[in-house]
Amino acid sequence: MPIYSHSRLSSFENCPLQFKFHYVDRVKTDVSTSIEAFMGDMVHQTLQKLYTDVKFQKVPSLKELHNFFRVLWDKNWNPGIVVVRKEYGPENYFNIGLKFISDYYEKYCPFNDGVTIGLESRVVINLDKEGEYKLQGFIDRLVCVNDTEYHIVDYKTNSHLKIQDQLDGDRQLALYQLAVMNDYRDAKKIVLKWHFLAFNKAVTSTRTNKQLEQLRKDTIILIKRIESTTDFRPNKSALCDWCQYRSICPEWSHLAKLECKGVNEYLKDSGVKLVNKYVELSEKKRELTKGLDAELDKLKDALVVFAKREGVNVVFGSNNKIRVSIFDTFKFPAKGSAEREELIALLKRLRKWDEIADIDIYGLNKIMQDKLWNKEELDLIKKYAEKEEANRLYPSKMKKED
Ligand code: SF4
Repeated sequence: MPIYSHSRLSSFENCPLQFKFHYVDRVKTDVSTSIEAFMGDMVHQTLQKLYTDVKFQKVPSLKELHNFFRVLWDKNWNPGIVVVRKEYGPENYFNIGLKFISDYYEKYCPFNDGVTIGLESRVVINLDKEGEYKLQGFIDRLVCVNDTEYHIVDYKTNSHLKIQDQLDGDRQLALYQLAVMNDYRDAKKIVLKWHFLAFNKAVTSTRTNKQLEQLRKDTIILIKRIESTTDFRPNKSALCDWCQYRSICPEWSHLAKLECKGVNEYLKDSGVKLVNKYVELSEKKRELTKGLDAELDKLKDALVVFAKREGVNVVFGSNNKIRVSIFDTFKFPAKGSAEREELIALLKRLRKWDEIADIDIYGLNKIMQDKLWNKEELDLIKKYAEKEEANRLYPSKMKKED
């Protein structure tokens, strides 16, 4: 089994197909990284240089750090770096990086908040006693304060300030805490600390032993789920804009192909032609049936009125006849309502539930597709399920961001 990491787990949670491209198939693309990730990396390396200097009893000037950042940026820049937000150019991100460094420098100089034990240091987390489930991670900065208090520090360069509840549930630093607890047995207190550089703000959180135990269990369950996955489905989301696999992802690859074509060529594309024709005919059909449905409803009402007035059950036409059946029916509370639940409970109490209950085939199909029950249960049910290919088309308007 591979050694896992927080990013590996998050990749699967965000999109199983992206996980497969990256970690299973190890697909190489022309897209190197996003500008946000690039800028974040340059800022991290600059802060690493800052604390390395501090360890050597040298506090670099802000100008030196800015120069370091500039040289690093120029040396590592490459044209494959993707700028998703087209309204901003690389220079904007460069200036943001400089500002992060200035703000941090001014707030924390002379950087004596504790003893830096590690910078970008690798930690290994054993999730189980047997050492089967392992994770690795890199702590941006590990600091020892007052001898027995340890701070696990993470620098965030994105433009989203997480709220306390999100940080109290954050997995990454809590996992690192498991490693720090194991590696530094004198630790009496461990603080998880995030520096949100875009807001020049530090926020902290702590974990109880019970929470850490639960985290250990949940992470093993997630790893087991990943290891048993064979069907890696795409999960389309706003993150697709930053995904390096768009050009090979079935959700986007057709659009990616079209983006390389001129307008004339674009319109000649078989896919474009098929979609345009399909939508045109569907809309035509909808328009036509809209009028017909309204007309049929009126005729139905008129036939009921006629049958009632004439006291007949069957109304005859030239070549056809229509039976008009008028009867009383019962309406029951809607699915999901409290009254519906009460009704189900009543039927069960009366031992009548089995007489009218049936399998929710749609629900069962979803459970099988999404593997929502355990493997043994699913395998038992599979004996009664025949796999067949189905298809359904979902036309929709393209959005600006498509
Ligand atoms: S483009 Fe979106 S759906 Fe496709 S692999 Fe990437 S994240 Fe997943």
